[in-house]
Amino acid sequence: MSANLKMQIHAHVGKELVRRKWRLIRYFIAIGHALGVTSAISAGIILLGYSLGIEALYRPIPQGSATHPVTALVIFCLGLHFSRKHGRDTLPLLLPIFALAMCVLRLAEFYLSAGFLAQITPFQAVIIADHLQGKENAMGINTCLMLSALSLSAITKWKGQVLLSQALSFFALGFPILAITGLAYGIDAFSGDMSLLTTTFGFCLSISCMSTSARNGAIRALLSPYIGGRIARLQALISYGVSFVVGLLFIQTVVNSESENAIGLFVVIVCWFSILLVTVFAIYQEKEDEKRRTAERELMNAATLDPLTELPNRRKFLDAAKIEVARAMRHDRQLWLLMLDIDFFKRINDVAGHAVGDSAIQNVAAILRQSARQTDCVCRLGGEEFAILLTDTDASGAWQVAERIRQQVEVTVLKGYKPAAGAAMTVSIGIACSGNEPDISQLLKQADEHLYQAKAAGRNCIVQPKEQEPVVEGGDNIYAYKRKAIHLE
Ligand code: GH3
Ligand code: MG
Ligand code: MG
Repeated sequence: MSANLKMQIHAHVGKELVRRKWRLIRYFIAIGHALGVTSAISAGIILLGYSLGIEALYRPIPQGSATHPVTALVIFCLGLHFSRKHGRDTLPLLLPIFALAMCVLRLAEFYLSAGFLAQITPFQAVIIADHLQGKENAMGINTCLMLSALSLSAITKWKGQVLLSQALSFFALGFPILAITGLAYGIDAFSGDMSLLTTTFGFCLSISCMSTSARNGAIRALLSPYIGGRIARLQALISYGVSFVVGLLFIQTVVNSESENAIGLFVVIVCWFSILLVTVFAIYQEKEDEKRRTAERELMNAATLDPLTELPNRRKFLDAAKIEVARAMRHDRQLWLLMLDIDFFKRINDVAGHAVGDSAIQNVAAILRQSARQTDCVCRLGGEEFAILLTDTDASGAWQVAERIRQQVEVTVLKGYKPAAGAAMTVSIGIACSGNEPDISQLLKQADEHLYQAKAAGRNCIVQPKEQEPVVEGGDNIYAYKRKAIHLE
């Protein structure tokens, strides 16, 4: 469906509704970008703390754990990457690739016990001094796995593997959630490995990472405004909340300290598994529901759009007109209606054939679309008759639209039809104006009468109500006005 056509369909209320419906995804993306920026700025401040020797900036709690410079650097790169939309640009991809390389070096250090990273770590002197004083300053394994997952998520997103990217960011989110659960349950093994700063950044970056692909896959399904999304959100909230609270009560009352780690882990896995299950079903449901919505929309279009011109048909026009009439009455405004009919159309059909006749109708439809504003309602009433309902205009505005259409039709060249003399095609236009209490059937009747008078007056001209004389400026327009306008006595 063309963009122009979509605009026509949603011209009045539809567009606003569609925009409002997916607002959760728009908010999520905006929040994700903001969290990316915040993480990058905060990581920059931590690095500044190292370079200026201000310990409070990289170790907010004295004697607590510090954010390692490499962790801060990786968070800076990822935050910068997630802070805006990149599409298929390759340059911003260097940021997660660099972050991943740093994490891989750190992992290699863990498992090979080699000092790869130490050799390229900035502010190494500060770290050695910290270690000598017995202060904690290292990039932990949890932090490393979390940031690797986020870097890989950004790379796979760029490669178009949305579901894999979302699964990786979901996995990464597990680490800060585990740390928070550890804090809530009082299980040091869960919360001890990551500093509070890194936990917060990990949480922010995971959300930010998910927001980069929120328009597709699992996040789209979870944030969908339709029934599947609404149920999934509720299920995720209830299943996570219940598991979390039951686990907490269990650990605080029944479990002894020896088995609390195992029970804690069991609760976290149950929480995670239930959300995974809900998400998988949400994806499936959203896909099915989207198919249903598309079929419904197509059926609606078939009933309300004219297939030849893709303009709304009379039925859709009358529906839209009802809304405009209500709006005009509320704001005490007039409504203007143009009714057009192609002159001697039978002749085009007879001389050049129906295919050329059809293309003439399509040409006029295209001119009407261009001439009307997005908020005006254009329709094909039937045959070679069209209508435009104009809002927020006056006598001279309505006149100008009609005159522009008349002139453009007059200079249109119809492929396959060469008239003996004059223009290939012309239109006659009747203009009607509502009183303070608009009535669409009255408007149509008045416009039809004026169209009939335009035909009677020789065609290729416009008739509008005498009491609404147009204000026309400029020599050419006055000429066109005198030549083409016919006023009712
Ligand atoms: P006038 O200037 O008085 O309007 O003359 P006209 O020849 O245009 O008169 P009329 O309204 O009677 O003719 C309309 C013709 O349009 C009759 C019908 O065969 C033809 N028509 C209606 N719908 C279509 C269509 O979708 N495609 C084509 N090619 N012709 C159509
Ligand atoms: Mg006609
Ligand atoms: Mg006709």
